[in-house]
Amino acid sequence: MLENSENRKKLKELKIFEKVPFEFKDGWTDLVYELGKNIEELCELTNYELPMIQQIKEKMGTLRFYYNTLNSQYPPIVEKSIRALVSQTVSKSANICETCGKYGELRVDGGYWFVSCDEHKRNSITAEEWKELDKKQREDLENEKINTKPYKVLKFEEIKSPILKRKIMEKVACFEAVCWDYEINAVDVFNILRTKDDEDFPISYDVLRKKVLKYVSVDNLKNVFNQEQLIEIFSDISLRAIRNPDTKIFIKELKKA
Ligand SMILES: [Zn+2]
Repeated sequence: MLENSENRKKLKELKIFEKVPFEFKDGWTDLVYELGKNIEELCELTNYELPMIQQIKEKMGTLRFYYNTLNSQYPPIVEKSIRALVSQTVSKSANICETCGKYGELRVDGGYWFVSCDEHKRNSITAEEWKELDKKQREDLENEKINTKPYKVLKFEEIKSPILKRKIMEKVACFEAVCWDYEINAVDVFNILRTKDDEDFPISYDVLRKKVLKYVSVDNLKNVFNQEQLIEIFSDISLRAIRNPDTKIFIKELKKA
């Protein structure tokens, strides 16, 4: 591999590159030289002026070749041919080590993309490995979100919105009849069913949900709880414990859901 200044000198030998700023490493010298030479030959053969090359640089790991054809009215075939030569070269740059010119591949190291051979890869990983890692990091983040924000079932007193509270009060009125003999009120019933926390009450969660099924109509239950909550609370109740045929059908449906 030639030293940088000699590589640059070689490129500057081509008329097309005389005034062009280069921003890439030595490994791509031959690649870029080849492109320049091909475009020069094409223009010579077709008798057209050289296109204006504005900048040749590395970006996101591969070669970028900025040029315009405003200085000459190329016929479409010449214009297309130049474009094809450029895009071929850009594709090739993805497999040529920018440092030494040997076979390489696109790699990334801490967000910095570059093409390198085995010798010049430093601590980088391949694009494939990066994709895997990126996917895993996204998944981890997603899991973390789920784990740090667990869904908390709110007790009635913990609900802040007065409007929501009033709505619930209206809906749970149907529980009043259930447990007057246990000295717990409708909101208590609602709280126990929602949280399964029956510690401070004279009735267990399991007995309570069976009593509710016995005394409260299915329509009223559907009015208080959404489908998910109904499944959570009632779906594992044994069908044998239920007398009312409508309620039986309702539980069967919950079990299937
Ligand atoms: Zn290399």
